[in-house]
Amino acid sequence: MLNKAHGIEDQLVTWRRDFHMHPELGFKETRTSDRVAEITGSLGCRVRRGVGRTGVVAELGDGSPIIALRADMDALPLQEANQNEYISKNPGVMHACGHDGHTAMLLGVATLLAKEKFPGTVRFLFQPSEEVGDEDGISGAPRMIADGAMQGVDMVIALHVDSNTPVGDIRVEAGPASGGVDSWFGSIIGKGGHAAKPHETVDPFYISAHVILALNAIFSRRVSAFDPGVVSVGSMHGGHTQNVIPDRVEISGTLRYTEINVQEKIHAEIKRAFELARPLGGDYELRFEIGTPPMQNYPEAVKLIRTAAGSLLGEEHILLMQKDLGAEDFGCFSEIAPGAMFLLGTRIEGDERVGHNQRFDIDEHALPIGTAILAECALRFFGEQYNY
Ligand SMILES: [Zn+2]
Ligand SMILES: [Zn+2]
Repeated sequence: MLNKAHGIEDQLVTWRRDFHMHPELGFKETRTSDRVAEITGSLGCRVRRGVGRTGVVAELGDGSPIIALRADMDALPLQEANQNEYISKNPGVMHACGHDGHTAMLLGVATLLAKEKFPGTVRFLFQPSEEVGDEDGISGAPRMIADGAMQGVDMVIALHVDSNTPVGDIRVEAGPASGGVDSWFGSIIGKGGHAAKPHETVDPFYISAHVILALNAIFSRRVSAFDPGVVSVGSMHGGHTQNVIPDRVEISGTLRYTEINVQEKIHAEIKRAFELARPLGGDYELRFEIGTPPMQNYPEAVKLIRTAAGSLLGEEHILLMQKDLGAEDFGCFSEIAPGAMFLLGTRIEGDERVGHNQRFDIDEHALPIGTAILAECALRFFGEQYNY
């Protein structure tokens, strides 16, 4: 598969640069999904459009078992600061997370697998809006699932480019692989008045100070140290001038967690922190916006990736993950069928090109490698050593 993927390397680069020059924000991927539908259709795939709004599902083969391979297609609201012949043509929008490469590689996989025979179905999930939710706070993966994209799927695999890992290496391991994320929005309600007479007010700043201390103690005092997570305050707004105590202060933030069974506990502890407002004479309002669950890499899916990648790259090029609590809505797919995501080394040697930055870029030599691993995963999934 690696040789075959190298055979289409120019095509992969052309596709990736085309998407890079025409980035589109979440749920606005109309040009991208037009291209994807056109290309997969010309390869002989069955193509379904409008899956999760701007998503595309393409299929090769027939019947079960079904392996799903996923690529996200959305870009970020950033102004590209690179200088080369394929920089973004859309002002203020940039593929700074590598989803242009993901889309190009999955098209490459379809190109390679269209020439193969296998006993089952490969379903290509071209997903919109991994980065942001829609007006209801729902991102692309759950939107696609609601439209039936995961029906009958036995295993789901994806990759993400990784600018910390050299080309030719991948990272994968079983277990929690990214953080679950929810947002919370609170108000501390006091009673405003003259800043010279605080005893006649209920000062929402004073109350907020206590609430923020309590929020910061959740992960040191209230949740087991074996359940890693984070509660962070991301915004705090209140008041208009120096000598008036306002009626209220608005505080919002994020929470991240790795074990689904502590999510409820963290919500309850955030609520307890805000309840401090009451004994201090004030009140509070609090609401949560539920985000994506933690991504779990399932052992059998990791084994498939390790076997496929090991045969192409050599065992020594499969590294362990460098974990963080960044969110990835692929976890929604792997809640439904066993799944795993691996990180594909795309580091540009001697240069810092990190994700979500205006200077992000990848070493395109990684494109055929990612393509080959995904295609190899699909074929080995159907092989007799993987009877799921
Ligand atoms: Zn991202
Ligand atoms: Zn991403």
